[in-house]
Amino acid sequence: MHEASLIASVLRQSLAIASANGASDIVEVHLSIGPLSGVEPTLLATAFERLAPGSGLRAATLCVQERELTAACRACQLEYRVRDFEFTCPTCGSTDADIVAGDAVMIESLTLRSPSDAVPTSSNS
Ligand SMILES: [Zn+2]
Repeated sequence: MHEASLIASVLRQSLAIASANGASDIVEVHLSIGPLSGVEPTLLATAFERLAPGSGLRAATLCVQERELTAACRACQLEYRVRDFEFTCPTCGSTDADIVAGDAVMIESLTLRSPSDAVPTSSNS
């Protein structure tokens, strides 16, 4: 299952970031997913609930944010939002473009709790 292996890798990275920051706990994991990632947010949440308790993220909450698809025009370098998967530059009309965001699952940020800290603090990876 695609989502399960993705979550397994998200959990590994989250734990590595938490330990690098001396955190005792991870409170929230913020993920962003793009429309081209081929990932179902609900399946992602299910996989997280199943895998997180055994990974050391006992009480972490998963927050999934869907990102817009963004492309960069190869002709004029303009970055634009792609709607309905139509890659047409709004400035020059070129259809030759690179995807710059929206094709991946990414850890946007983690909310960590440090041992001496009762208040959760945010840390960008
Ligand atoms: Zn262009």
